[in-house]
Amino acid sequence: MFQLSGKVALVTGGSRGIGRACAEALAEQGATVVVNYVKGEAQAREVADQIVANGGKAEIAGFDVADTKATESAIEELAKRHGRLDVLVANAGISIDGLLLRLKDEDTDRLFQVNVKGSLACAKAATKVMMRAKTGRIIFLSSVVGEMGNAGQTAYAASKAAVIGAAKSIAREFASRSITVNVISPGFIDTDMTSGMTEAMKEQLVKVVPLGRTGTAREIAGACVYLASDEAAYVTGQVIRVNGGMYV
Ligand code: NAP
Repeated sequence: MFQLSGKVALVTGGSRGIGRACAEALAEQGATVVVNYVKGEAQAREVADQIVANGGKAEIAGFDVADTKATESAIEELAKRHGRLDVLVANAGISIDGLLLRLKDEDTDRLFQVNVKGSLACAKAATKVMMRAKTGRIIFLSSVVGEMGNAGQTAYAASKAAVIGAAKSIAREFASRSITVNVISPGFIDTDMTSGMTEAMKEQLVKVVPLGRTGTAREIAGACVYLASDEAAYVTGQVIRVNGGMYV
């Protein structure tokens, strides 16, 4: 089950954290993985090298998803080169925290440019290729805070809620082409994104997680592999929560 041999997968933001774990897990199942990054070329290269050292297939592709034109042409080019694009994991994302009264317009703009417009540009380019193939898998990354809200994360939560609305719409638009579109909604996962939290903050947080701990990137990657697989062909427009029970 969950075999991905012969498939090509693009993971945006595959150089670190959740994206890295997804790239590694997809490669373990046999997919050729394209590891995208914006700044971390060395880290992306390390991910790809590690995959190849483990007997998998991987390459790197640097582009800024916030630059929607460059993103679309990069995806067009890589799909042309491989002759296919079976799986898109639109994972690249940023967080900027702040209470509403201190929220800066430019921070909201940046969050939407990367998290929403960036993910949509990837999906737009990917669906063009997948439509012709009459099959494909698109996996977006939202967040538990996009579903339940979080004081101090208004703009980030709004961007992640937007991703859910977009994914459900795209799922409806492309179902007739057998392209499935789903969302993974992680809880608090140990990555660079959450590394700025103090131990006291983490302790507080874990108290509201029924499973009593933060999650790992690898635990998100498991859901990603499932959604990318043939076995998930009848799953579309869904939000898969991997959050330790924090929001049910
Ligand atoms: P992370 O450790 O901060 O890694 C972010 C990744 O995104 C990096 O690979 C980074 O590339 C890439 N990236 C950022 N901006 C980009 C851009 N403009 N263009 C291309 N790539 C870009 O984050 P993470 O924790 O793994 O989070 C991954 C996704 O899961 C995000 O969408 C995040 O919102 C979501 N999420 C995370 C958590 C959590 O608790 N960690 C919870 C819920 C949802 P570089 O290395 O090149 O900078």
